[in-house]
Amino acid sequence: MAEQNVYFKGLKCRECAKSFPADVLYVCDECFGPLEVDYDYDAIGKVLSRNTIESRQPNMWRYRELLPIAGSVTVGEHVGYTPLVKADRLAEALGVREVWVKNDTVNYPTLSFKDRVVSVALSRAREFGFTTVGCASTGNLANSVAANAASAGLKAYVLIPSDLEIGKVLGSFVFGATVVGINGTYDNVNRLVSEVAGQHGWAMVNVNMRPYYAEGSKTMGFEIAEQLGWQLPDAVVSPMAGGSLICKIDKAFKELVKLGLVEEKTSAIYGAQAKGCNPIIDMVKSESDWIKPVRTPDTIVKSLAIGDPADGIYAAATMRNTGGWGEDPTDEETVAGIRLLAETTGIFAETAGGVTVAATKRLVNSGKLDADSSVVLCITGNGLKTKEAIAGEFREISHIEPTLDEFNAYLDELKNQEEVALHVSHSTNSHATA
Ligand SMILES: *Cc1c(COP(=O)(O)O)cnc(C)c1O
Ligand SMILES: [Zn+2]
Repeated sequence: MAEQNVYFKGLKCRECAKSFPADVLYVCDECFGPLEVDYDYDAIGKVLSRNTIESRQPNMWRYRELLPIAGSVTVGEHVGYTPLVKADRLAEALGVREVWVKNDTVNYPTLSFKDRVVSVALSRAREFGFTTVGCASTGNLANSVAANAASAGLKAYVLIPSDLEIGKVLGSFVFGATVVGINGTYDNVNRLVSEVAGQHGWAMVNVNMRPYYAEGSKTMGFEIAEQLGWQLPDAVVSPMAGGSLICKIDKAFKELVKLGLVEEKTSAIYGAQAKGCNPIIDMVKSESDWIKPVRTPDTIVKSLAIGDPADGIYAAATMRNTGGWGEDPTDEETVAGIRLLAETTGIFAETAGGVTVAATKRLVNSGKLDADSSVVLCITGNGLKTKEAIAGEFREISHIEPTLDEFNAYLDELKNQEEVALHVSHSTNSHATA
């Protein structure tokens, strides 16, 4: 893939539309609005067809004209094109006509959707000549920066709140990154990382590389549409941390419509956050015009615990403008959501996946999400990284001797327990109806 990308023009302010060159810039010098990548869609429309895309390798770079790097992909060339799984048993449990799971629990190489944004950010950082990279992270971004930097021979500094799950900490450390735990919230970490980027001149993927980084999330939307046979779904439910992914799924759908790759349609976009850190959901539900930051997040859903989300107002606008809505389930509902997804699809998601399933359940029950629709759930991270969240749910497993007699005796014991449980539930039911 040696050709130059001539389709990406530069950066543009999201608020005042002022144009900037495609440099290491992320805020508008006129109005302090965030900068976004600007493309030449007429030129892209002339070269990009469904056939062209389908003829390419099954990874996120099959949409490379719509991604902001100038030359070849140098970091993360195998990322993306994760399975879109039709989940009939989950659909039945949720009471929805059709459910699909976009399964980024198996994204390459670090089992979360963050590999998409990091592939773009680090490929672009190398084009600028950076040799040291880093991030502020709630865990998954740190894992992905650490792994992708290792494969590219870049030095990495990842800063995280000090109370993250052990799986997320080890999953950065093992790649040789410098992992720094900060006593504070994600917002404290993020502020520090902005200062570090300025003083040390490093590429911090979600700070000074943010316009490039954020575009990587669009590939989740492109893949959903392609995997549905070049159609947009009726609805999508996405987890939200900083609020970037949900905006970029919507942007991806709009780009496909603009390029004539899918028929025009507005997919209703729904967002999910945990009750214990819900600034974007709170903005939507209270019909407010601004984000009220959550100062001290309190939830097991650490990957989404951003109290002052950078793209919060844009995420809220995405939900409003597409006819979507949002929900903020409790930690108990999140754990139930993880188990429901696992038991009906065989997919073990992290807490963000539990929130997404639990939010969908609430949205269907309240009628905000039409039960007669085809819904895609974005399942963005792997459950093996957040085992703590469900450890308390299970009893110790039984240990028996390696004989058939012992095994059969154990089966009888289980059967008795089930009968007792059944009997208890029958008698409670008859109480309840009496
Ligand atoms: C980072 C993350 C998200 C969403 O991130 P945004 O900041 O809203 O783009 C969703 N799920 C998981 C598991 C994440 O790590
Ligand atoms: Zn501006």
